[in-house]
Amino acid sequence: MAEIVLRNLVKTYPGTRTPATDDISLEVRDGEFLVLVGPSGCGKTTLLRMIAGLEAPDSGSVQIGGRDVTDLPARLRGLSMVFQSYAIWPHMRVRQNIAFGLAMRKTPKAEIDRRVGEAAELLHLSEYLDRYPAQLSGGQRQRVAVARAIVTDADVLLMDEPLSNLDALLRMEFRTELKRIVGKLGTTTVYVTHDQAEALSLGDRVAVLRDGRVAQVGPPLEVYDSPADEFVGGFLGAPPMNFLPARVDRADGRSRLRIGDQSTAAPVALGDYPGDEVTVGVRAENVEVFDADGPDRLAARVEVVEPTGAAILLTVELAGRQLKVQAPPTFRIGPGSPVWLAVDPDRLRCYHPADSTAIT
Ligand code: ATP
Repeated sequence: MAEIVLRNLVKTYPGTRTPATDDISLEVRDGEFLVLVGPSGCGKTTLLRMIAGLEAPDSGSVQIGGRDVTDLPARLRGLSMVFQSYAIWPHMRVRQNIAFGLAMRKTPKAEIDRRVGEAAELLHLSEYLDRYPAQLSGGQRQRVAVARAIVTDADVLLMDEPLSNLDALLRMEFRTELKRIVGKLGTTTVYVTHDQAEALSLGDRVAVLRDGRVAQVGPPLEVYDSPADEFVGGFLGAPPMNFLPARVDRADGRSRLRIGDQSTAAPVALGDYPGDEVTVGVRAENVEVFDADGPDRLAARVEVVEPTGAAILLTVELAGRQLKVQAPPTFRIGPGSPVWLAVDPDRLRCYHPADSTAIT
């Protein structure tokens, strides 16, 4: 068992005023893939380094597999790491690079050969074992770094932006590969990225960090569909969630959301907030776009049309605000044209405008 339990981790670097991590508590289950995601400087790497034992917390504790390791040096924590700068040795062949950790532990040669062979196969590196890193592509080098980390059979795998040196296509390919490999190994994994797409696709759960704190933690689609606040909704997803000021009205016994001088059906839960100002959050793909008016549709005007292949992304103006909405690829419309928008009230999220916390 290799669950990780982090309790109240506080770390302020000398010479800085604000904590890099500010009372973070998190649990990673045995065999789980947890992604730490958030904007630059939110404390992801610091948290990972505290799990690794490369940074000491000012207070709080780290447990791995039921053992308190807060004061244990990195090499005794039973973990493996992959970093952004994959740090493979240029003067060693792929085979020696992968074997490095095992050789350091004086593993018998036959055992090293067997495990290197297995890791190479898993990462599609078998035919490159006798090459030097300079003779490999970026993606292949990254795979060597991952092979080196998994070959030791560590209980915990820690990865810090391991794909950030790859171009967009390789990154996507390798992401899929990584998901397959880690899924197969079942190693408890903590993965740091600032890339929200990576977080959504890789994690069993994602923890969104902001200013050294956990803004939300949960399964990717739950966090994506029901962000706890405007920050999370804005950070996860491309395009970010749309936010609009609205007011809760009541008409004919039903709640309506008034947006500018128009209104649309409100989520049932807003029945308790008549007259309140709220912030409405809605994802681009949850807005239906029409070229004609109809019941419960909101009139808007197209500003920008961006085909993405699978869909058409429209930037529209509604009640003086810009919104990103998604139309089917066959939808024909030009800038300046009127459009009508419809949203299923169950797909709307509503927030208190004062502190951005969720109402629905
Ligand atoms: P990025 O995505 O840019 O790598 P991050 O979320 O991993 O960012 P950290 O590297 O953990 O963030 O940094 C958190 C905060 O701590 C930042 O404000 C950063 O400037 C600060 N910080 C990190 N390392 C040090 C250090 N060695 N000395 C002083 N301050 C540091």
